Amino acid sequence: MKHNFNAGPSILPKQAIDATVEALKDFNNSGLSIAEISHRSAGWDEAMDECRTLWKELLSIPDGYEVLFLHGGASQQFLMLPYNLLQTKAAYLDTGVWATKAIEAAKYFGEVQVVASGKDSNYSVIPKYEIPADADYFHFTSNNTIFGTEIRTDPDSPVNMVSDMSSDILSRPIDVSKYAMIYGGAQKNAGTAGLAFVIIRQDVLGKVSRSIPAFFDYRVHIKNKSMYNTPPVIPIFMMKETLKWLKSIGGVAEIEKRNRAKADCLYNEIDRNPVFRGTTAVENRSIMNVCFVLNEKYAGKDGDFMELSKKYGITGIKGHRSVGGFRASLYNALPLESVETLVGCMKEFEKIIA
Ligand SMILES: *Cc1c(COP(=O)(O)O)cnc(C)c1O
Repeated sequence: MKHNFNAGPSILPKQAIDATVEALKDFNNSGLSIAEISHRSAGWDEAMDECRTLWKELLSIPDGYEVLFLHGGASQQFLMLPYNLLQTKAAYLDTGVWATKAIEAAKYFGEVQVVASGKDSNYSVIPKYEIPADADYFHFTSNNTIFGTEIRTDPDSPVNMVSDMSSDILSRPIDVSKYAMIYGGAQKNAGTAGLAFVIIRQDVLGKVSRSIPAFFDYRVHIKNKSMYNTPPVIPIFMMKETLKWLKSIGGVAEIEKRNRAKADCLYNEIDRNPVFRGTTAVENRSIMNVCFVLNEKYAGKDGDFMELSKKYGITGIKGHRSVGGFRASLYNALPLESVETLVGCMKEFEKIIA
């Protein structure tokens, strides 16, 4: 058995993979593969509707919001967001690589006020910040996939609030009504790559004075129910199946419990084991991406731990190059057994070298 700790694309529920394999062979008893059908054909509308409904159910999305499925991943949303919402000035919290990319994209459209940056600490801490009341919106990254920090409570904001939730969406209940927009790439907790989800409150649109090309205008995608152009049907189908699985196990309240249990299990071992240490401030620890390194005394032994981990079937724990060491991503579909296996491997490594 493989224990898949990849940061994204990442582990998916087996049911979602199996259902997608089936649909690739025969979609909806049509005798055709999902890759072969028209997105205007019978059955597809229903699949897309089911996906939208599952989002609304799982996150208790209130009336007045739309759920969109768009090409281009989270990175395209870095541009679409300011294109549609930034008139004069936007406020951004800089908590890592993805936040920085969102900031750079917004600068094409107006003034960007960075309310605080964690850069000086190599993003190991979420800095304190204040949101200016004259900003068109405030943007933050809820989970910093690369550095392993997370903002797990929905902040209060005096202005429209927008969050990139690519890597912790659906990992816990959220209060959607606090947000003007929530978006992310699908390929962590919500499915496979090639797709972004956007949850947007309709009344925030149509307020900027610039003209927006149709493809980049959220209103066009809302009007066309995410089918302005050919939608990526396979990733959307896989997203639907991933959400179905989540619903079947009890939804976001249940998955939050499981995610916490997994994260506690691993952080407890990091804190106990004299060979390892965590790289982030304890109060900002992510429960999705756990970053840790070898203590100085064992410097240079990273390769040995990686070798040992392979014997356990562990994969995907090499840290991002900007942090080094190790990163274990504990996304929704990862079972507790995989975390226990990693902890067992860490204990054995301690025996070998400490
Ligand atoms: C993975 C990730 C992205 C990038 O998503 P793409 O779909 O590849 O553009 C952006 N933000 C966060 C927080 C991520 O984890």
